[in-house]
Amino acid sequence: MNSEATTQDIIREAPEYKHSAGPVHVFFEHLATYTFPLVCLPVLVLSVLDYGKTSDRYFFLALLPLGWLAADFITGLIHWGFDTYGSQTMPFLGRAFIKPFRDHHTDPKEMTTHSLTVTIGNTCIAATPAAAAFLYPLLFGTPSDTFRLFAFFSALTIFGTVLTNQFHKWAHLDNPSGWIVFLQKSKLILGPKHHHVHHTKPHDTYYCITNGWMDAFLHKINFWRGMETMVSWFGVKPYGHILEERNIRA
Ligand SMILES: [Zn+2]
Ligand SMILES: [Zn+2]
Repeated sequence: MNSEATTQDIIREAPEYKHSAGPVHVFFEHLATYTFPLVCLPVLVLSVLDYGKTSDRYFFLALLPLGWLAADFITGLIHWGFDTYGSQTMPFLGRAFIKPFRDHHTDPKEMTTHSLTVTIGNTCIAATPAAAAFLYPLLFGTPSDTFRLFAFFSALTIFGTVLTNQFHKWAHLDNPSGWIVFLQKSKLILGPKHHHVHHTKPHDTYYCITNGWMDAFLHKINFWRGMETMVSWFGVKPYGHILEERNIRA
């Protein structure tokens, strides 16, 4: 091992970078966490405010549950992908994005000690540019009402996706605040009992972690195993240890 690699390893193993790929990753986690609300919230507001047909604004209300549902589905897909195909040794993605998912199965309570930037920073890194793509035309273009509806739905979905890991963290708290329990019991966000299904070995279902609305349906239609069959048509199979966990020979 050369001296440069050793120095990098020392930096990466420092306690302040325990949950990250190193200082550059930590910088972007912070930057994205602070920037995200400044980019996403204006999309939600501007798409409604400048909507041409003011009498039809109730469409936006109808999009509220759909956006929340879409966020649940997207987080399920990402969670399933990282749990099933991700490797901690993959370049960049491995340590920064996949390792937290692996660690979470072995020590579910550990994430309750994470700061806000560790909890949602990774998602914000991906979500901020996505929200910016909708903000730009709303600020500088003359988008149609259809675009405004789509921008609102997309921003809501992105917003729910960003908040997901915070909801997930709350689902693992021993003594959450009363208002968190209220949100969990009303099923607006992920509840601990519901999420426990995923934490039961072999961790191969109930991947959706925003509110869990999609979980029972996707489990019933065997959606995740169906996805794995489709992915296998492209020559990609789940990692051996995942299959071992499911008592299937790799
Ligand atoms: Zn998992
Ligand atoms: Zn969990």
